[in-house]
Parts: sequence; C-alpha cells; structure tokens
Amino acid sequence: MHDLTEKCGIFGIYGRDMDVSRLAFFGLFALQHRGQESSGMSVGDGEKIISYRGAGLVSAVYNEQNLKRLQGHIAIGHNRYSTSGASVLCHSQPIAIGETFDFQNEMREGSIGGLVAFAHNGNLPSVTALTEFLKDKGVLLDERSDSELMAEAILYYVKNGKSLPEAMREAYPLFTGAFSLVVATKDTLVAVRDSCGIRPLSLGKLNGGHIVASETCAFKTIGAEFVRDILPGEMVVIDDTGVQSIQIVPPNPKLDIFEFVYFARADSTIDGQLVYEVRKRCGEELAREYHIEADIVIPIPETAIPVAIGYANVSKIPIEMALVKNRYVHRTFIEPEQHSRDLGVKLKLVPLPEMITDKRVVVMDDSIVRGTTSRQIVAMLFEAGAKEVHFLISSPPVRFPDFYGINTPDQKDLIASQKTVEEIREYLGATSLGYLSLDGLVKSTGLPKDHFSMSCFTGEYPIDLHERAHDFSHDVPKN
Ligand code: AMP
Repeated sequence: MHDLTEKCGIFGIYGRDMDVSRLAFFGLFALQHRGQESSGMSVGDGEKIISYRGAGLVSAVYNEQNLKRLQGHIAIGHNRYSTSGASVLCHSQPIAIGETFDFQNEMREGSIGGLVAFAHNGNLPSVTALTEFLKDKGVLLDERSDSELMAEAILYYVKNGKSLPEAMREAYPLFTGAFSLVVATKDTLVAVRDSCGIRPLSLGKLNGGHIVASETCAFKTIGAEFVRDILPGEMVVIDDTGVQSIQIVPPNPKLDIFEFVYFARADSTIDGQLVYEVRKRCGEELAREYHIEADIVIPIPETAIPVAIGYANVSKIPIEMALVKNRYVHRTFIEPEQHSRDLGVKLKLVPLPEMITDKRVVVMDDSIVRGTTSRQIVAMLFEAGAKEVHFLISSPPVRFPDFYGINTPDQKDLIASQKTVEEIREYLGATSLGYLSLDGLVKSTGLPKDHFSMSCFTGEYPIDLHERAHDFSHDVPKN
C-alpha cells in the first residue's frame, strides 16, 4: 500500500493578479524529470478549490481550456513518478479532499470544492501512527496510500476548526517518514519538510508572488528568483499577509544524496551546490580513483554528461557523445514491466559505430540499480565495434532499498545486494567496472558527510523505518 507513493515533483504558487495555473503548468513542466506518470493541479480562489489531474506528461495533461478553468490566486501541483501497476489516476495528486465532488461533465478528471489540497514528495515507511490516529478519530479507512492518510489527518484538524498551519503543526508528528509537502486551502498555502529534509524544497519569488518548488530549475523556467531552501523541519506559510516561517521541529539535515547523483536536474541548486558542478566533480574524482588506458569517454545521457566532462578533463581522454539519446523518450525506469524496460533502452539510446569501432571505451553512468540497462549498453557498445568497454559509475553500489520516496525496487532486485563488483562486471560483460567511493561522492558534493542520508549505499536510515526495518538485510557483498 504505502510503497505506491514514490519520487515526485511538487510546486506551489501564491500570487494575487497572477495567472497561477499557467505558471504552475510551466513549473511542473520544468519538474517533469521528477515524475512522468501523471500530473495534477489544485487551484484556490478564496472561495473554493478546483482540481484537475491526468495521466501522462505535463504537456499532455493540460491545455488552454483546463488552464483557463483553473482560476485563482493559489495553485499547487504535482508530477507523479510511478505506480506498481495500479490505476494511474487513482494515485495521482494533488489529493483534494473534504466536500469534493466531481464535475466530469464539464471537465474530464476535474473536481471542485475540496477543503484541503495536498501534494507529497517522499514516502512514509510506516503509517501505523497515522492509521491509529485516524481510526481513533473515526475517519473511515480502506486501502489508502501514505499521502492520502496524511491529507486525511490534516483535513481532520481543519474540519475541527484549526487553520491550515495549525492543522499541519498538529498532524506533523504523525508523519513518520520522508516528506516535502505543499498543501493549500482556498486561501492559504503551506510548504513543509520533514525534520531531515530528505527531499529538497525551495522558496522563490516573482512579481510580489511566492513560489515553492522541489527544485530551483522550476524558478528559472518561470523567471522567478530563488530566495532560499526551506529548512528541514520548517513550515512556510503563505497568505495575503506574506510569508511566515515556523520551525516545527529542530532541523537535522539529511538530504538524500541520490538527489545529486541522479534525480535533480543539472541546473538546480541544492543546499548551495549546483547539481551540474557536483556531477562534474564526481567525474574528476573517478579519474583520480581509476586510471584506465582508453581512447574515448562516452557519457550515458543525460545525467552522466557532466560526469564524463569532469572525467575527460582530468584523465585527458577525449569525450565523445557516441550514445545518442532520443530526447522524446522519457526515463525508461518508470515502466513497471521488465519487458517494456528492455525495449525502452533500445528506444532511448543509439550507438555511433563511427566513433566506437576499434576503440577502447570508458562508458559512464550515474548508478546501477538492477543492472538491466547497463548490461544492454555494454552489449550495444561491443556490437558497435568497441575493443574494450570500461564501465564507470559516479556513485557507490546501491545495496539497500529505499523507503523515503525513490522508486528503487526490492532489495533482492538490486544487483549490488546480490553480487560483488566483480560478479556485476561479469554479468554486465564489461572489460572493467568501477564505482565512485562513498568518500569521493561526498567530497564531490562540497558538503559534509553528516549532511546526507546515504541509506541506499550504506543501509543506515536516518528516519526510523519502524516495521519496515525487517524488509531488508545488512548481509550484502562488501566489495
Ligand atoms: P540499470 O542498469 O537497469 O540498473 O539502470 C541504470 C540506470 O537507471 C542508470 O542510467 C540510472 O541513471 C537510472 N536510475 C537510477 N536510479 C533510478 C531511479 N530511481 N529511477 C529511474 N532511473 C534510475
């Protein structure tokens, strides 16, 4: 149930006399890389909330007609990453609850009249506290996701006369997990992060209006100015009186380092570090950690491009874009079925034999999760005539499952939890395989080690997993 919510992109805007739905549309468009399965938006106008959600890419979900219908001065939006095969729309967000009724005759998938609209990036490994609370309060529960339970808890307090910020503060201790949230009523917007700030969330401004987004790349797209990162444990409240900050619990920063490795867009800045530069430094570190005699360096686009630039700079091996990406195929990992993932790689990447034949190749990627894609890429490069294929990865082996909002699979499906690096090399069919060390990765971020959650590499989880702590084993290959 709760493993249905995963990595997502969230956006919120508050601005009188602004076309908030159009700006939210562009913001969600900039956050497309954080979720491609569905997108949704809820807009408040001081009297009511209107919501619209649809399956697929942002550009496919919204059009002139539905954006015009979504009028108001508050908007929150959400791009959803992936489900485990469940119906797409029933898990899409924002979740608008309390006195909501559909208006499907007027607008497909639309709804009107929610008291609270809620969008979540992250995941609660345990929902025991929430479920018990809601049962105790007599709130009817059947199969609900962690996000729906969280929204219900907030709604409970709102219905009992609390303002949205008060309701959030009351419900906050029930949220035992990772969350960056944007939540709205018809007249107030709040944005909040868990005490560890596992998922990013930043504050921006535009023409007197205020914006929150998962990543700063969304600000640039709409011409907004970055103000600051919202702190772990902080709630930002935005209404007609302006922006107010409330530190609900003391911050204990533990950003998921995987944001730098893979998720975030290269032009986003997180905790003062430009993601592009962090990735480039990972490549430089890899060149220091592995000396390889090779003729060319090939990045697997997009994430590893700055990695390969950094590697090429230090190793003096020339970089070639010899794996060409079809830009119109979105990330293949989101396909829940293994067979469609296999097909996905071929749709996505085409090797250039003209660059590859008879060459000793270093190919670079950000991570290996299941190993499926990587194996096909090695085969593809040999088929294109490579003499040697050296695989370098800009992060350590992923040996532990994620519980905080990344869509990594069960531990048994993580290749590095089952095989040693040498066995993985053999499975991939690569000439050699090297992973960036954990210290090398941390050094590349420019931030101290204790600033991060690195659970997928170390198995140390900064937020208590409660009953989920039994879902994985520490007995994994050490090298
Ligand atoms: P594989 O070889 O099948 O494990 O695929 C590795 C590829 O998956 C790499 O190119 C990564 O960039 C990408 N990847 C890593 N983590 C994720 C994730 N959580 N969602 C989607 N793709 C991912």
